[in-house]
Amino acid sequence: MKWKGRTRSRNVEDRRGKSTGGKLIAGGGIIGLIFLAIQIFGGGDATEILNQIQQQSSSGITEDRELTTEELEILEFTEVVLADTERIWSDIFSQHGSGYREPGMVLFTDAVNTACGGASAASGPFYCPGDEKIYMDLGFFEELRTRFGAQGGDFAIAYVIAHEVGHHVQHIIGTAGEVRSRQQRLSQREANELSVGLELQADFYAGVWAHHNREYLEEGDIEEALSAASAVGDDAIQKKTSGRVVPDSFTHGTSQQRMEWFRRGYRSGDITQGNTFSSN
Ligand SMILES: [Zn+2]
Repeated sequence: MKWKGRTRSRNVEDRRGKSTGGKLIAGGGIIGLIFLAIQIFGGGDATEILNQIQQQSSSGITEDRELTTEELEILEFTEVVLADTERIWSDIFSQHGSGYREPGMVLFTDAVNTACGGASAASGPFYCPGDEKIYMDLGFFEELRTRFGAQGGDFAIAYVIAHEVGHHVQHIIGTAGEVRSRQQRLSQREANELSVGLELQADFYAGVWAHHNREYLEEGDIEEALSAASAVGDDAIQKKTSGRVVPDSFTHGTSQQRMEWFRRGYRSGDITQGNTFSSN
């Protein structure tokens, strides 16, 4: 993606290299909140994530340190991508007669406190509707490449940011809240199906964003996004972590579905074609 020297968002807060203070607020009440409110990017086992959060919550105090040149470069990149989402979603919202509220984004390492509770790098990137912020641990992308076999590359990161912004869009439109209240009256299997619908729609929105950002794309970018989408399919993650695939427990969609919905968004650029709920 072409990004050097372009407009940067002012909504990114870089907490990398900052002392965490050593304590995370993790406790019983938060567990429910995390299950309900956080949209975690990849599939995976929420219980495992919560265990890791609790383990890490008692880790020691870290010292502040200077960011490396490479880290500062990634900061600029994420700021440009976020600015691109702000520009494109503001346009789309105003075409539909409403205003867009920009989300914040926090870069962190190891652990972070959010309005949705404490979280660790093990959660992967996520969106918290409580503070309307996207939380990104960039170490996730290394894992995506080495553990889950994605190609890597800058556009994999751009796709993930655009996916999380997609959850923000669902939050301000009201889709996310509607789904959550319906889920409370459904069986686990049916509730999971709705979660899959939300995730695939966020992938679709990421595709819509890429469509409107075509002028800045470079060869291979879409392949990087599709490779990341494929790597975080529930089936791919389950195979890697437990060796078997249990479709009823899917909460994010298969690799195939995630790539397909990203592609649909990318081809059409039209948010009205993102009904991911009827196809499940
Ligand atoms: Zn998601």
